[in-house]
Amino acid sequence: MSPTQSQGGINLELTPEQKMVRDSTAEFTDREILPGITELDQSHTLDMGILRGMAEQGMLGAPIPEEYGGQGLDFVSTALICEEIERGDGGFRTLLSVHLGLNSLTLLEFGSKEQKRKYLVPQARGEKIACFGLTEPNAGSDVASMESTARRDGDRYVLNGQKEWISYAGVADHFLVFAKTDKAAGHRGISAFLLDRSMPGIETRDIERKLGVWAGSTGEIFLSDVEVGAENRLGEEGEGFKIAMYALDMGRFTVAAGALGTIRAAMDAAVKYANQRATFGQPIGRYQFVQDMIAEMVRGYETSRLLVLQAAWLKNKGVRNTRETSLAKWHATECSFQAAHMALQIHGAYGYSAEYPVERLFRNARAPLLYEGTTEIHKMMQAEHALGYRRLNG
Ligand SMILES: Cc1cc2nc3c(=O)[nH]c(=O)nc-3n(C[C@H](O)[C@H](O)[C@H](O)COP(=O)(O)OP(=O)(O)OC[C@H]3O[C@@H](n4cnc5c(N)ncnc54)[C@H](O)[C@@H]3O)c2cc1C
Repeated sequence: MSPTQSQGGINLELTPEQKMVRDSTAEFTDREILPGITELDQSHTLDMGILRGMAEQGMLGAPIPEEYGGQGLDFVSTALICEEIERGDGGFRTLLSVHLGLNSLTLLEFGSKEQKRKYLVPQARGEKIACFGLTEPNAGSDVASMESTARRDGDRYVLNGQKEWISYAGVADHFLVFAKTDKAAGHRGISAFLLDRSMPGIETRDIERKLGVWAGSTGEIFLSDVEVGAENRLGEEGEGFKIAMYALDMGRFTVAAGALGTIRAAMDAAVKYANQRATFGQPIGRYQFVQDMIAEMVRGYETSRLLVLQAAWLKNKGVRNTRETSLAKWHATECSFQAAHMALQIHGAYGYSAEYPVERLFRNARAPLLYEGTTEIHKMMQAEHALGYRRLNG
């Protein structure tokens, strides 16, 4: 039975609380992000003031229960925050994805009481920034081929390795990283660790030359003989792969929800421009080729939104949603890249200039097709599930 057919189906109407969250985040984006975003992007500047503002508004702990310093909001509200923030810039939504989706929500699920007190509470309050280090120079989609190691030495572990393409590595206080505790055991040999920037042996470096998210942060983490107590291991030894996959179910949701913001930003810019720009004596919006692109954006937004709401509904119910979240992430990020591409096309040569927002949207919309599962990985997951080769929801 499809989730939409089961009892207590999805309610598409927002509650007063959800509307309030959406409106206050939209105001934040209009006030704090949009006025200066072109300048920040062009100068490759991460504005820590915007991060602090997001923290003050409680965004960095939105779905974390109040007892751990969060807002206790539901997943529809979390999705609305991601959408409104990405309408401003994808770089700031990326912070929500790594800090909240990949790190804090995973800590909430797998953390001990002490780990939650020490790491989750300051993260949910926005006092500390957290990131997620899974990818390595030789291991992206193929997580089990990672080379970082965590050697047990009494009641401690010694970590060595390199993490690559880690969003917010350069400014994070806390790191959730994965390393092999048993090299021979494949994906069952991976364990997860909570690290502090202050630990000796940790270094980070920003990746400067990249296609997009210039107003955000992407970097590398170098681990050389980093010693951590066993109390910093998240979950059991060998549970790292399972923990990483749980984290991705959360992170992918925030990526999918954020993509809605890019589609809206692209659509708003395209509609405005199509009504202003005239060729051959009439606004370009009157031409069917241009209308085709606007219609595709509308379709992309509405279908993506339904998939995001379906995933949010399952998350609110606390049931496994790997299949639905993967579908939402794949579809919404493809639609958002297409929307940005078409918005740029509608702007003609002006779309190629930083004078208009669409070239930034276009560059920023490319990375989500790569991270948290490439488009090909999501297609493979969906096909293998449909073919009966694997069961995504367990
Ligand atoms: C801006 C940005 C931010 C990022 N942030 C983070 C972060 O915060 N934390 C983190 O851990 N990682 C992060 N990543 C890394 C990202 O998750 C990886 O790049 C991604 O998992 C893909 O891995 P890869 O780049 O090694 O590509 P590969 O896995 O080497 O894939 C290369 C190509 O082969 C295809 N391919 C691979 N395997 C298969 C298969 N089985 N079937 C079909 N096709 C296949 C892929 O789809 C892709 O087209 C970030 C990446 C970017 C660009």
